[in-house]
Amino acid sequence: MMLSFMLTDNDNPIRLCRHCTKAFVANRPSAVFCSPWCKNKYNVYKSRSKDKKE
Ligand SMILES: [Zn+2]
Repeated sequence: MMLSFMLTDNDNPIRLCRHCTKAFVANRPSAVFCSPWCKNKYNVYKSRSKDKKE
């Protein structure tokens, strides 16, 4: 068996989280965050930088 094949299973692609850059298994093809928590944090930072315009 090839280990590299098992690590890159099409059903469980390994991704790097956009927020914490941690490696995780994406449940969906469009997943970019390792958890809802990271998605939440990322969006908070984004909206905060917008508010800085004051
Ligand atoms: Zn993350």
